[in-house]
Amino acid sequence: MSDHAPVQHFIRTIIDNDLASGKHSTVVTRFPPEPNGYLHIGHAKSICLNFGLALDYGGICNLRFDDTNPEKETLEYAEAIMEDVRWLGFQWAGEVRWASDYFPQLYEYAEELIRKGLAYVDDLSPEQMREYRGTLTEPGRDSPWRGRGVEENLDLFRRMRAGEFADGSRTLRAKIDMASPNINLRDPVLYRIKRAHHIRTGDAWLIYPMYDYTHCISDALEGITHSLCTLEFEDHRPLYDWVLDNISIGCHPQQIEFSRLEMHYTVTSKRKLSQLVAEGRVAGWDDPRMPTIHGMRRRGYTAEGIREFARRIGISKSENIVDLSVLEACIREDLEAKAPRVMAVIRPLKVVLTNFQAGVTASRAAGFHPNHPEFGSREVPIHSEIWIERDDFTETPPAGWQRLTPGGEVRLRYSYVIRCDEVIRNEEGEVAELRCSIDHDTLGRNPQGRKVKGVIHWVSALHALPAEVRLYDRLFTDPEPDGHKNRDFLDFLNPHSLEVVQGWVEPCVRDAPPETRYQFERLGYFCTDRHDHRPGDRLVFNRTVSLKDSWAKGPTGP
Ligand code: ATP
Ligand code: MG
Repeated sequence: MSDHAPVQHFIRTIIDNDLASGKHSTVVTRFPPEPNGYLHIGHAKSICLNFGLALDYGGICNLRFDDTNPEKETLEYAEAIMEDVRWLGFQWAGEVRWASDYFPQLYEYAEELIRKGLAYVDDLSPEQMREYRGTLTEPGRDSPWRGRGVEENLDLFRRMRAGEFADGSRTLRAKIDMASPNINLRDPVLYRIKRAHHIRTGDAWLIYPMYDYTHCISDALEGITHSLCTLEFEDHRPLYDWVLDNISIGCHPQQIEFSRLEMHYTVTSKRKLSQLVAEGRVAGWDDPRMPTIHGMRRRGYTAEGIREFARRIGISKSENIVDLSVLEACIREDLEAKAPRVMAVIRPLKVVLTNFQAGVTASRAAGFHPNHPEFGSREVPIHSEIWIERDDFTETPPAGWQRLTPGGEVRLRYSYVIRCDEVIRNEEGEVAELRCSIDHDTLGRNPQGRKVKGVIHWVSALHALPAEVRLYDRLFTDPEPDGHKNRDFLDFLNPHSLEVVQGWVEPCVRDAPPETRYQFERLGYFCTDRHDHRPGDRLVFNRTVSLKDSWAKGPTGP
């Protein structure tokens, strides 16, 4: 990976100190997603942090699925997550880990806590438990079952496991402090009874450990040195530490919290993203408008661009809502250097070159990138009929207009200067076609005695290939779609977030495989669609990002 130098942040400082003091001799991190949806840009931040630290410090990073909620988890999600991590350019150490692999050990540690008088079986119903829990300002009350003896607790817990009790009828709880100001310490549930088929363990277990209990033990079993999570887990840290302090496990990772990534004009919550998919508001988890890694990839974003974004936004504890334009700028910069440049016309206007002459009017070769001669070149064919962009012609030019206008001249990129001699209209009076003449003295040189400043892109109508071009825009019209008290985030869906047009592209792209990126000159960066594009047959391009930030002046629609 040829990424930029890492930016120092407080977690790196902690690691530097731990290595200097000898507390640790290496760095072991993990990325612990729950396979209950596709990953989004926020997860990308966490992936870049965890895998990036392991790379920078010569340590390792595990991929561990937090699969403790069997009803919501699927193998499809797990596979998509593995694909995303690899696509982003990272490799986990050894095999993928699953929290469910630790179910036997987790169970043993629970018995240890019971034997130490630190956990008990509770018969309160979920509603009663809520009542007993107290509030932020009032302490909770002890459950009447809190005083059960060790033997009774062990017996009941084993029978919970054996399936003797109904779902939800009993729980195993840590015995900590019902009056703690930290609600997470008010005898948190460690295990619940749930008859649900699990993607890995099938029907082997009828009791499932809770996330907080599972997570710290999984970290310790893997010898994680620094367990990095988002700020909402700060109040859970005392519980993380309590569990590890009270079992005989011999490893105690340090939990460190950093702020979540939030982005303007989008949502980063799996629940909301899955709602968009389930309600058919988008075409799926990998719809190019989605902030999912799958969606961004399909749209044409690059892994390098996303990694650079993660580097630029940095790591801190302060809340940060980042504008989408920051991400787009990283993608644009990466593509600027990498994407070959070709011409395409997406809103075509026909131009007839009246003095085109076979054998006299010549085509030129053009390089695919001004700074990368090694990208090679191709012939840009010309013929008597060409397509230009409708926007590049006007009959009422504003001041400073440098493109085509009746009687005016413009250069065709990589070709001749042409003059617009005649405007042809259809029955509705709309401009249907232009008649232009070529100045044959201008191929590769300036016209004599006058300046022609404007240059427009174009394609030969005879040679160009038809292409479906999907123009994407922001999925939401509001910077914080889920930040309004009385409005649903769906109210802010951008009705113009997708526009499909039929355009024309240079023939040299004919055989481009799916996921090939180009700059369409003057239009933006485009990527052949992963699913619908068929080389040599059906060309489908997704607009990845425009050349300039068109939203800088405020939303205008497409
Ligand atoms: P969501 O809140 O979208 O449902 P989650 O936190 O439940 O996501 P997990 O699968 O548990 O999703 O997340 C895996 C890891 O990614 C966790 O360590 C979590 O802290 C981190 N993560 C999730 N969302 C973000 C975010 N917006 N910014 C940074 N890290 C995140
Ligand atoms: Mg989570």
